[in-house]
Amino acid sequence: MGMTSQRTRDRLIERLREQGIRNESVLEVMRSTPRHIFIEEALASRAYEDTALPIGQGQTISQPYIVARMTEALLGEGELPRKVLEVGTGSGYQTAILARLVEQVYSVERIDALMQQARTRFQELGLRNIRLKHSDGNWGWDDYGPYDGIIVTAAPPQVPKPLYDQLSVGGRLVIPVGEQGRQQLLVVTRTHDGYDSKTIDLVSFVPLRGGLG
Ligand code: SAH
Repeated sequence: MGMTSQRTRDRLIERLREQGIRNESVLEVMRSTPRHIFIEEALASRAYEDTALPIGQGQTISQPYIVARMTEALLGEGELPRKVLEVGTGSGYQTAILARLVEQVYSVERIDALMQQARTRFQELGLRNIRLKHSDGNWGWDDYGPYDGIIVTAAPPQVPKPLYDQLSVGGRLVIPVGEQGRQQLLVVTRTHDGYDSKTIDLVSFVPLRGGLG
């Protein structure tokens, strides 16, 4: 229990702050969302280390710092996004953080078993504003678009075109792009006449694959 206690979580939040995370709502939601329920029991004692961990099927739960950084970039400084699309539900941890900050989250995952596990966790946490789909996120999720924010938690070689199309004007897309092991974390903002793109970090995500798992 000690390893998953509130003190252990508080220490993680202090570290995130030291590393430059400034958005207080993001820090507060991460402080009060249990990360250990998103990983298998054998690894639960490591849940509040600032590290990625295996979640089965060759996938990983993202490092807390990266979750914080991407969430902060997605929210931006102005009005909060209302509708967010996530590609790569995985454990559901990033999804849960988003669901506590925005009105509605849509999330797609290509490995059905991971999606089902994530669904159970959302029920346990009482999160009702998440809609899930077993699908290839390279196509986005057209039915509910355009989205005020899109976040991708696996890395494609370049930004899939449907994600550009499903972003609303003024919306932000946060996505790691590049080859395995070294990717640029991009923030793409849709403007009235195009897209502005900037790199905010270097990251290492699992690849965004094609088709279903
Ligand atoms: N945010 C998740 C990250 C999991 S790793 C977490 O913190 O737990 C990335 C996830 O993206 C994996 O679950 C993987 O199966 C999924 N993924 C990879 N390619 C995909 C695609 N084309 N469409 C949807 N999900 C994809």
